[in-house]
Amino acid sequence: MQFTQSYLTLPATFYKEILPTPVADPQLIIWNETVAEQLGFAGNPADYTKFLAGNETFENSQPIAQAYAGHQFANFTMLGDGRAILLGELQGKDHITYDLQLKGSGRTPFSRGGDGRAALGPMLREYIISEAMHHLGIPTTRSLAVVYSGEGIQRETVKPGAVLTRVAKSHIRVGTFQYAAQFGSVEDLRSLADYTIEHLAIPVNEHPYKSLLQEVIKRQATLIAQWQLVGFVHGVMNTDNMTLSGETIDYGPCAFLDTYDPATVFSSIDQQGRYAYGNQPGIAGWNLARFAESLLPLLGDTQEKAIEVAQAVLDSYPELFQQAYNEGLSKKIGLPNTEQTLKLASQFLQLMQQHKADFTRTFVALTLQNYSDEFFKHADVQAWLKQYEQQQGERTPEQQQLMEASNPVLIPRNHLVQQALDEAETGSMENVMTLLKHLEKPYMYSQEQLAFDQRPPETGQDFVTYCGT
Ligand code: AMP
Ligand code: MG
Ligand code: MG
Repeated sequence: MQFTQSYLTLPATFYKEILPTPVADPQLIIWNETVAEQLGFAGNPADYTKFLAGNETFENSQPIAQAYAGHQFANFTMLGDGRAILLGELQGKDHITYDLQLKGSGRTPFSRGGDGRAALGPMLREYIISEAMHHLGIPTTRSLAVVYSGEGIQRETVKPGAVLTRVAKSHIRVGTFQYAAQFGSVEDLRSLADYTIEHLAIPVNEHPYKSLLQEVIKRQATLIAQWQLVGFVHGVMNTDNMTLSGETIDYGPCAFLDTYDPATVFSSIDQQGRYAYGNQPGIAGWNLARFAESLLPLLGDTQEKAIEVAQAVLDSYPELFQQAYNEGLSKKIGLPNTEQTLKLASQFLQLMQQHKADFTRTFVALTLQNYSDEFFKHADVQAWLKQYEQQQGERTPEQQQLMEASNPVLIPRNHLVQQALDEAETGSMENVMTLLKHLEKPYMYSQEQLAFDQRPPETGQDFVTYCGT
């Protein structure tokens, strides 16, 4: 493998060179053929196990832990890769350079009180959900492999340990810039900004740092719109979990909406609902403001001028988000993006909320014009349908195609993911593999795919994800 480590060209304050800590008895649990092929991993996957467990280092890999800070639930703190190690970068077949990072690979200088390890369940969860996001067409980090460590780790109880290999265009976060601004010199900050612009191919004009801010805002606005349109709740939108590449990162207590309700929160640690589904666009705006603040020393000769530049760019975020969201929402109901369509769509969402309808399933029903679900029997929904059908007229094949391409049949439903993970912990990967196979084709309107999607059983209890680590 031809590793590079361009991060080493940055000032030393941005990383610590460190090797992974070996594990007792590594076993390859899952291997992503497509990603492997894309990155040039040839031959027998098992041959890579020792490297992806951290028991051996690839030739010419110079592993590092990255330094970063961040706002966690609005509190600023020093962080850094406490249980992740960046092995280096590989050039993909698409000529893009990808980071290869081990997660759960042992302690680093940034571990604080943590053990540097990860449990099998949460790493498989990240694997499944990141792959599902990718196939939904949403920018995301991906997963190459999960290796069972052969060791137990102490959580609430003893859990099987694992190492995930994560693949990303970049692991630079808003928190990386916050770290530079808070703890580094202006020159450190400038180096990081220049590196990011080059590394992420940020299109720049005569004011490169303003361009950087603009581009990151643009990428995040479209990313968050895509989350909202499939009902994805990230769960921990701390500034250290927001990338500059525009890739979704850090699948902790994330989950997908079943019932449509903007107030939905899944994370057990989010007592205030800060990261609720409906708050995500606003929180992204808040995070981007923290990013802009960290860039201030580069944005103008005086503080006043810099703030003026930053504010002007930040002001574009709500509109960029709204545009992307409106565009997508209109497609979901198969109508042109007009004022009238948006009014109709928002009425539809309100009805879904009021009657506790399933987000994914209801859009699929609309796509199929199959109104057999209880939801469609309500008088107010019937009235809405009449209006909708009037506005759409006879549905054209183009409209049909657009709706199918905008309304996934399959999302990684929480209860399905949980079932598969519970099974995996007892040693069987069959359910995980079946689930993954279906999640590869979320927009395929086949009988098989439609039948695979099941609403969660009514337990009377909301789904909660524990910040699984
Ligand atoms: P996260 O909540 O996954 O975004 O992680 C927040 C911070 O906690 C990051 O700096 C992680 O590296 C660190 N962290 C999380 N779990 C562990 C662990 N088991 N050992 C060391 N550091 C950890
Ligand atoms: Mg990179
Ligand atoms: Mg994180």
